[in-house]
Amino acid sequence: MKTDADILIIGAGASGMAAALQAVRDCPEARIVLLERSDRPGKKLLTTGNGRCNLSNREIGISCYNPAAERFTQVLDNYGGDIGFFRSLGLMTREDAEGRVYPLSGQASSVLDVLRFAVASSGAKIICSAEVTGISEEGSGFTVTTADGRQFTSRKVIAAVGSPAGAHGYDNKQLISSFRRRGIRLRPFSPALVYLSVDELPAQLRGTRVQAEATLRLEDGRSFSETGEVQFGEGYVSGICVMDLSREYDGEAGAGIEFDLCPELTAEDIAENLETARISRADAPASAALTGLVPKAVGETVLKQCCKDVFRRKTGSLTAEEILSITELVKRFRLRVSGKGPFRSAQICTGGTDELNGSTLESTVCRGLYFCGEIVDVDGKCGGYNLHWAWASGRAAGAAAAAALNE
Ligand SMILES: Cc1cc2nc3c(=O)[nH]c(=O)nc-3n(C[C@H](O)[C@H](O)[C@H](O)COP(=O)(O)OP(=O)(O)OC[C@H]3O[C@@H](n4cnc5c(N)ncnc54)[C@H](O)[C@@H]3O)c2cc1C
Repeated sequence: MKTDADILIIGAGASGMAAALQAVRDCPEARIVLLERSDRPGKKLLTTGNGRCNLSNREIGISCYNPAAERFTQVLDNYGGDIGFFRSLGLMTREDAEGRVYPLSGQASSVLDVLRFAVASSGAKIICSAEVTGISEEGSGFTVTTADGRQFTSRKVIAAVGSPAGAHGYDNKQLISSFRRRGIRLRPFSPALVYLSVDELPAQLRGTRVQAEATLRLEDGRSFSETGEVQFGEGYVSGICVMDLSREYDGEAGAGIEFDLCPELTAEDIAENLETARISRADAPASAALTGLVPKAVGETVLKQCCKDVFRRKTGSLTAEEILSITELVKRFRLRVSGKGPFRSAQICTGGTDELNGSTLESTVCRGLYFCGEIVDVDGKCGGYNLHWAWASGRAAGAAAAAALNE
């Protein structure tokens, strides 16, 4: 069968461009075409890492991803050296104290530029404003159809279409249905790395940030904890640790989030500190009894919940019982989770397909079709892990598709 391309990549985002570059390296004579829905390749990259693009992390391990990712350990092992990949494209990087890797320029646009310039120089062709809506098997290859009726044939196809997460999130309903018709199973997408909506968040906490340990407790008894800065908003809680926990929340009723608002100290230390305050600051307002331990708004919220008429009282009037309940609330400040942010506010999605070969990412039900990036059922925590997966999986799929051309 004479085809328009040897390898056709649907989506010129992070993983799609990585796939193209690897395929060209491994098979320079292959005709590679990327079809991109948007008017420019890689737009989402510009918004990553607050415009700085946290493209990888020093500490990459399978434990940074969801349990289903374990079957793709080999992809990370074989193509995990992303800093080397970017060095080979001429992009220098720097690591921050937590091991997060950024371009040396501090600009996400540099990452996009080195990728798109390298793709352009490689001979691979990017066709923009080409939204793929369907795929069908044609002899030993595939035909893909775009929303405006164009058709492209190819020997191999790599689906690198991402997920609906982000401001310009797109649900790809038609293309996903087309995959499903080919027998490909995809776990529904759910927004992740996003804020959690909570009930009855005291108004006083809005706009407050606190270092805390956050524990998400699900109705089925499972619980997950993360430590870091928590931000209280209007009806929601956010911050990196909460966003990481959002990966575990699928909208289950009865879920709660619990904060240890002073994780550095034990309950005994806090009680002792309150006792010291009771004696040494006896005439100070009781609402300020937690001064020095937690931010003012947090202290007042806790005091208000534990002590009657607290705004009219002095610290010296706190009873032993009240000190106990203040301590307990500081260590276990609970809110009911009522939902999570929408796709447009999310950085990634959970869900996608896992019916793939663990190292080549070829579909096990549709040979010659490969998946990479977020459409694979792999999701990582904040810190560069998701882009790391995009590069590694893109390169793995690109290499495998190129190798298969010679079979
Ligand atoms: C605000 C924000 C900040 C983020 N910050 C970070 C960060 O700092 N570090 C990190 O590791 N991760 C970050 N992420 C996550 C990261 O951007 C994604 O995990 C990564 O881009 C996924 O790569 P991908 O190639 O699978 O998808 P994408 O990069 O989204 O690329 C998919 C491409 O396919 C195109 N496409 C989709 N459907 C079709 C179709 N039907 N036909 C043709 N083309 C199509 C899209 O237009 C897009 O260009 C962030 C995400 C967001 C939204």
